[in-house]
Amino acid sequence: MSLRLPSLSSVFRATQAQAPRTAAAAASTVSAPPAGLRKGDSGPKVKQLQDALVKVGYMTKAQVSTGPGIFGPQTEAAVKKFQADKKLPTTGFYGDLTHAALKKALGTSAPTTPTTPGGKFTKPAVINAPSPNQNSRGGTKIDTIVMHHTATNNGAGDLSWMRNPQSKVSAHYMVDRDGKIYQLVGDDKRAWHAGKGELHGVPSDINNRSIGIEIVNDGSGKTPFTEAQYKSLTQLTGYLKQQHNIPMKNIVGHADVAVPKGRKNDPAPNFDWNRLRKGIS
Ligand SMILES: [Zn+2]
Repeated sequence: MSLRLPSLSSVFRATQAQAPRTAAAAASTVSAPPAGLRKGDSGPKVKQLQDALVKVGYMTKAQVSTGPGIFGPQTEAAVKKFQADKKLPTTGFYGDLTHAALKKALGTSAPTTPTTPGGKFTKPAVINAPSPNQNSRGGTKIDTIVMHHTATNNGAGDLSWMRNPQSKVSAHYMVDRDGKIYQLVGDDKRAWHAGKGELHGVPSDINNRSIGIEIVNDGSGKTPFTEAQYKSLTQLTGYLKQQHNIPMKNIVGHADVAVPKGRKNDPAPNFDWNRLRKGIS
């Protein structure tokens, strides 16, 4: 995260420096246009939106200087990125919620959540293996990642069990011994991995708010997690953390959130948390 701030702010400074004096002055009075703009729209309100997106660091001067306010793919992409960072539905439509968030962002003197397009982590390749064991999050935002061990060293068996409707268990992802990542449940859906729980001591429906990752390991504390697993897990967790703005303290083990305390011990005690945290910092 810390690496991203200087790079963006230097880009921001550079674009400001190149802009004519009058444009720079105008930029300081940029405001959010009224809600109700979408792809295909054009005109002064779209231009106003683009200037606002430049101000908060989601578009560059170069991107918006090409014409008088046309809501094209670049503007839509910027709106979506902004929505994702503000944990809003990423519709690309500039509606009431996005208007409110943009207004708030403009109220601060510097870009509040500057991002580089795509960020530092890209989503690793996943093998789709859908599980029926899922339901709606009911509108709850994702703010937690929970790590598990599967309690066997047999990824094929674990995968099959989590895809069996009778098991009534699942996770969003399973990282096999060879580092292959299987996606069983879409991030937007609620997987059934955590059971009764709490977060930092506060009782909570963990499944509602979290992404669950099962790491194939018997949990004995003696079976090493493999190099390939750490590598895949770092990329996957880094990406999810970035994508959903998840604070480091909310990247936890099942043991940390399960109640009553001691009900679960996963991931196993030999799991190298420091290595993961370092990798995703
Ligand atoms: Zn677990």
